[in-house]
Amino acid sequence: MIPIEEAVGAISAANRIAIATHVSPDSDALGSLLGLGIGLRAIGKQVALLCDDPVPVKLRFLPESASVASSTDLQPELFIGVDASDPQRLGACSTDWLSSGIPVINIDHHITNLNFGTVNVVDPQAAATTEILPLLLDGLGIVMTQDIATCLATGLVGDTRSFSTSNVTSNTLQVAARLVEAGIDLAGITETTLHRRSVPILRLWGLGLVNLTLDSGVIWTAISLAARREIGMRDSGDIGLSNILISAEEANVAAVFTEQPDNRIDISFRARPGYDVAGVALSLGGGGHTQAAGCLLEGTLEEIVERVVPLLKAQAQPPAQKE
Ligand code: 5GP
Ligand code: MN
Repeated sequence: MIPIEEAVGAISAANRIAIATHVSPDSDALGSLLGLGIGLRAIGKQVALLCDDPVPVKLRFLPESASVASSTDLQPELFIGVDASDPQRLGACSTDWLSSGIPVINIDHHITNLNFGTVNVVDPQAAATTEILPLLLDGLGIVMTQDIATCLATGLVGDTRSFSTSNVTSNTLQVAARLVEAGIDLAGITETTLHRRSVPILRLWGLGLVNLTLDSGVIWTAISLAARREIGMRDSGDIGLSNILISAEEANVAAVFTEQPDNRIDISFRARPGYDVAGVALSLGGGGHTQAAGCLLEGTLEEIVERVVPLLKAQAQPPAQKE
């Protein structure tokens, strides 16, 4: 059972609340942060909205996105993490509050969630964290305004790739229907979230696709920091290339290795339905879902590719050939 009542009780008892989401925030991270934040402000709470990284330019259409910051003067009585499967993923902006002894509500949908909260509202059946939030908003008597619905729908559209992933359920669609009833522009949200990207991102796709490798059911490519800089990509965030790689007929598992500053490599994993990348991501200190996961590792591009690709090959074998 998801402890919604407990979460409602903890929120009702607090006036000053910090909500944080994960580093390199995506549409579900920011949709959850802002949808919940706007809702709590509407019932009179003082709310700080925290994220280590800036809001990506394409998500700045989200209402109140300008109020997301990497620190706060508010002394919160309650801390809420959204869309993060482990405390490290919430970044430096959250470290103090997670260790301060105040109650922590962990709201998430990753199967790899470590249940790090004092209250864990974790539902791996939910296709997005924003699919869970209406239950909480209803429990608190918060009205589903168009602004809140826009935030929640952006999370749903992003994490389900416009309702096309294998974890979409009737509940996902019922929540979506309710958001449409609240007056959102679903086509506009889908266009902005999924179908608009910068020319540097397209150039990086080109580079990554030219240099891809396919071996034993695994398709992967690596993108160096130097290449990103040369192409003029300042955003260190996800470029969505793993979704393209996994469309290869010949592949069951895909990975994009992206070099970050400080000798770290971000890896974005994808699996075709019937295959699983969540376990590999978790074993490497990351997390995610069966079909989409990720992690951040220390090392050079070459070292990390050499270390991780064999683990992926083990996951990419058709079920009959697995041990
Ligand atoms: P993406 O490849 O789209 O960036 O991420 C796919 C999924 O894996 C998302 O649900 C994302 O939150 C999760 N994920 C990506 N990178 C990491 C990571 O470094 N740590 C954890 N815990 N999860 C990650
Ligand atoms: Mn999510």
